[in-house]
Amino acid sequence: MKTYECDVVVVGAGPGGSMAAKFCAEGGLDTILIEKKAEVGAPLRCAEGVSKKWLEEVGIALDPLWIRADMIGAVIKSPDGTQFKLDESKAGTEVGYVLERHLFDKALARDAVAAGSKLMMRTSCTGVIREGGRVVGIKVKSMGEEAEIRAKAIVAADGYESQVGRWAGIDTNVKLNDLNSCIQYRMVNCDADMEYCEFIIGRSIAPGGYLWIFPKGNGVANVGIGVMGPLCKGGEPKEYLDRFLAIDPRFKDSQAVEVAAGFVSTCPGLDCAVDDNIILVGDAARIIDPLTGGGICHACRTGMYAGKVLVEAAAKGDFSKASLMPYEKMWRDRMEDKLYRNWMAKERLAELDDETINELVRLISTSDIEEVNVYNLLKTVKEKFPKVVEGFEHLI
Ligand SMILES: Cc1cc2nc3c(=O)[nH]c(=O)nc-3n(C[C@H](O)[C@H](O)[C@H](O)COP(=O)(O)OP(=O)(O)OC[C@H]3O[C@@H](n4cnc5c(N)ncnc54)[C@H](O)[C@@H]3O)c2cc1C
Repeated sequence: MKTYECDVVVVGAGPGGSMAAKFCAEGGLDTILIEKKAEVGAPLRCAEGVSKKWLEEVGIALDPLWIRADMIGAVIKSPDGTQFKLDESKAGTEVGYVLERHLFDKALARDAVAAGSKLMMRTSCTGVIREGGRVVGIKVKSMGEEAEIRAKAIVAADGYESQVGRWAGIDTNVKLNDLNSCIQYRMVNCDADMEYCEFIIGRSIAPGGYLWIFPKGNGVANVGIGVMGPLCKGGEPKEYLDRFLAIDPRFKDSQAVEVAAGFVSTCPGLDCAVDDNIILVGDAARIIDPLTGGGICHACRTGMYAGKVLVEAAAKGDFSKASLMPYEKMWRDRMEDKLYRNWMAKERLAELDDETINELVRLISTSDIEEVNVYNLLKTVKEKFPKVVEGFEHLI
C-alpha cells in the first residue's frame, strides 16, 4: 500500500478545504488536499447567493468568471404577498452576488494549488489512523487504490456529511430541529425579477426555513426551499416547492433543467472544533448561518483561520489541542455572537404562524430602517414584537 507523508492533509476541496490548503501551503507547509469527487464544485448543492463584504476579508479577489449576477436588491415576502423590497442603498452588504459556484470552488482549489498544495482528486478519506491516542493521518481510497496519508495535522473540511471529525472522536451530531432539508431547481424561461434575490417566509410556504429565488440572468433562476423536517405537515420539501411553482405565474412557462438537494445544519457551531492534530472547518464544524443557511463565507473564513493557526503550530512544532485552540478563539471572536443570535431568531421565526409573519413583514416594510441587515431587522422586531427576541435581546 502506498504511503504519503506531509505536514497537513486537508479532507475536502470545498471552499473551506481549499482555503485551508492555500493558507497552509503559503505558510510553507507541505500540504495535501484531497477530494472524493471527480470534479471540484460539482454536482451543485447550493443556491449560489453570497453577500459582498467578506470576500476582501479572506483575500479573495473578484473574478467575473465566477460572478454570474450582481444583485441590486432583495425582496422579503410573507405568505399573503406582503413584500419588503430593499434597494441597494438600504440592502448594504446583505445583498450581493449570485455565483457560478462550480467555477468559484474551482478557482479556490486552483489558488491552493498555485500556493503549493498537492491536490488529489477522486481520493476519498475512509478513516483516520491513530497511534498513541492521537490521529496521525488518514486512510484513503485514491483512484480505486487503498493508501495512507500520514500528516502532523488534519483539516476536516468534508462538509455537512462530515465523518472525519466523528472518526477522530469529536461530537458532530446535529439535533433534528437544527437541520434544514433543502431542494432546489434551476428554472429556465421564468419571469422572475433578474436583479433581486427573493426570500419568502411563512409556515405554509417553508416551515422553519424559507423559499428562495436567486436569479442568474436571462430568465434563469435557482428556486429552492429549505425546511425544518418535523414542522412539515404538508408533505416533503419537494411538495412545498412544487406547490409554489404551480401557482406562481412567473413560473407558468418555466421548467427545471437541474435539481439539487442537500442538508444544512442550523445550529450555532460545534462546542469545540479542534482536538489534538485536527481542526474542523466550515460545514464540518457546523459553522454556517443558522438563519440564512449561508455557509460559503463561513467556510472560507474558517479555512483561512485553520491555515494560519496550523502555520503557527508548525513553527512551534506543536499540533496539540492546546496549540490549535487559537483557531477556536478566532472563529468565535469573529462569528459566535452572530451565529447564536441568528440561531435564536431562526428558532423563534419557526414558531410563528402565517398571520404573525404577515404582520412582521408589514411592520418591517413600513419601518424606516437605514441599512437593512439581520441586526437592524431584529432591532425593529424587538421594538414591536419583544416576545420574538426574548432570551437573546442582549445581542440586538
Ligand atoms: C441546497 C443548498 C443551498 C445552499 N445555498 C447557499 C447559498 O446560497 N449561499 C451560501 O453561502 N451557502 C449556501 N449553502 C451552504 C453552502 O453550500 C455550504 O455552507 C458550503 O459549501 C460549505 O463549504 P465547506 O467547504 O465547508 O463544505 P462543502 O462545500 O460541502 O465541501 C466539502 C467537500 O468535501 C468533499 N468530501 C466529503 N467527504 C469526503 C471524504 N470522505 N473524502 C474526500 N472528500 C470528501 C465533498 O465532496 C466536498 O467537495 C447551501 C447549501 C445547500 C445544501
